Amino acid sequence: MTLENKVVVSAAIVVDIEPSEDGSSSRLESIVRRLQAAVDSVHSDDPGVASTGCTAYDWLNDSDTNFGRCADCRRLVSNYDKPNQIRTLIDARIVYGTLLCDECSYLRRETAAES
Ligand SMILES: [Zn+2]
Repeated sequence: MTLENKVVVSAAIVVDIEPSEDGSSSRLESIVRRLQAAVDSVHSDDPGVASTGCTAYDWLNDSDTNFGRCADCRRLVSNYDKPNQIRTLIDARIVYGTLLCDECSYLRRETAAES
């Protein structure tokens, strides 16, 4: 693989769907088109930024999807050490029986070290 001096930066949105939905819908497709247009528009005057034109879908109504909510901050998280992770969610792991994102896990360690 040829290395390039570039970084792929990803952001994500969460879209409410019908419980039975497991494929694309015109509403979802419209939301994705608007998201892609926003990404293209925001950086259109910077030649050093290029859209990948790629869109990833991670279905949270799929039982194999690896996600949860951080016990402290309640953000959606994914455990990167396990299969089927969602890389646009913050990494998390079980710490003494509690699912914590990396940031909250760090804050708990810092707070414990100060006491
Ligand atoms: Zn958290």
